[in-house]
Amino acid sequence: MTSDPVPRLLARAAQRLHEEFADLPAFESGYQTELQLGAIEQVLDQAAQRLGDNYPYFHPLYAGQMLKPPHPVARAAYALAMSLNPNNHARDGGRASSVMELEAVSGIAAMFGWGNSPYLGHLTSSGTLANLEALWIGGQIAPGRRIVGSEQAHYTHTRISAVLKLPYASIAADNSGRMCFEALETELRKGDVGTVVVTLGTTAIGAVDPLHQVVALRERYGFRIHVDAAYGGYFRLISDALDENARLAYAAIDQADSIVVDPHKHGLQPYGCGCVLFRDPGVGKYYKHDSPYTYFTSKDLHLGEISLECSRAGAAAVALWATQQLLPLTVNGDFAQGLARGRRAALELDRRLRQDRDHRFQPLLGGPPQLDIVVWMLNAYTPQKSSELAQKIFAACATRNLHLALVQLPQHWFSGADARALTTPAEHITCLRSVLMKPEHEEWLDRIWRQFDAASREVLGGSK
Ligand SMILES: *Cc1c(COP(=O)(O)O)cnc(C)c1O
Repeated sequence: MTSDPVPRLLARAAQRLHEEFADLPAFESGYQTELQLGAIEQVLDQAAQRLGDNYPYFHPLYAGQMLKPPHPVARAAYALAMSLNPNNHARDGGRASSVMELEAVSGIAAMFGWGNSPYLGHLTSSGTLANLEALWIGGQIAPGRRIVGSEQAHYTHTRISAVLKLPYASIAADNSGRMCFEALETELRKGDVGTVVVTLGTTAIGAVDPLHQVVALRERYGFRIHVDAAYGGYFRLISDALDENARLAYAAIDQADSIVVDPHKHGLQPYGCGCVLFRDPGVGKYYKHDSPYTYFTSKDLHLGEISLECSRAGAAAVALWATQQLLPLTVNGDFAQGLARGRRAALELDRRLRQDRDHRFQPLLGGPPQLDIVVWMLNAYTPQKSSELAQKIFAACATRNLHLALVQLPQHWFSGADARALTTPAEHITCLRSVLMKPEHEEWLDRIWRQFDAASREVLGGSK
């Protein structure tokens, strides 16, 4: 493992922060003696050992789930802020970090095309909370009306709707995992839909719903559009490199009523960083509350006045702010190029699967990856056998330090000569899945393919 730059970066910044408070009288912090530090060291040794019981998420051979290592600047900035542990509920608890949050969120709003228009937005502790706020506002504006989303939308929307006591209906997806436009219009004709959840980058396969088409229906049927771009939001920066549907969908994102993106997914942040944005700042009135004890030190906006969560990690805002200082969210910037590299790796993996000389794999009927997630099934005579093979190859890869993921997908998403031989009906089939979200995945793809190919041969039997 290469050496970690964060301790050095952090030591320097911590010294700098320490100097900011140099005029305070010294005090005993209570854990400074050699004895106390020795005890802490011992516990940390144990913690390090315990943490070894994990997949190596930071390594390019980890190509399984949506896990992207935070940038060193984010880790250092987060840890730096920890010496103060600011609370972005109110300016009293996090004066500088509240302003940094507003600045970081404005960078995200600009990425979505709201750079010169008013909006309301803040960070949340997760995509789930961010989506909850957006659907809650939808329910406040149109009480009792239905929420609809694709059957491939994140399961959180069904649960959130239940929490909010709003009826939820699921819309069919086509074999590329996108929300089926005709099926949506059928639901809209019933006249009781309050919010349509449009996913840009589904969690299973990175499918991009046709947002531009949904926008075109809004005037006729009158509903709110909530864009769940928790995973895919940042792909707006490289939408020129995506297929036509995705390009048009991302171009329409500024038409959404609300948008969610997770900086802790693709934005290089430690966990605890989601973001929700509203096009109409007027929705702030629904958050209104009277608190006799939180807001004293400033007449400026306190983030707790526009957030359902009260205490929130100021450190998350500091980390995001620092990351965006280093890597601004611009179309041709280094951050965007990192996304593009992962996407190229995904396209290359998909190409190799499709062109496999031994026809061992079935890629998606609906075409190549829309973002940077690749899924494929194993050719076999029954769905059960195919699912079993996927599990065996998944395990054989892991013994070679290559970590993929498994996913259950509808069988009708796959076809071709061998799939026609699938005689036993089974709704879902276990497939292999690889999320190639690290920039390093591009140069590691050959290694990844070699390990995968060898593991597949081991399971399926030698080369033909
Ligand atoms: C991950 C994800 C969520 C949930 O976000 P968390 O940050 O895990 O709470 C919601 N929607 C989509 C599309 C996601 O990918």
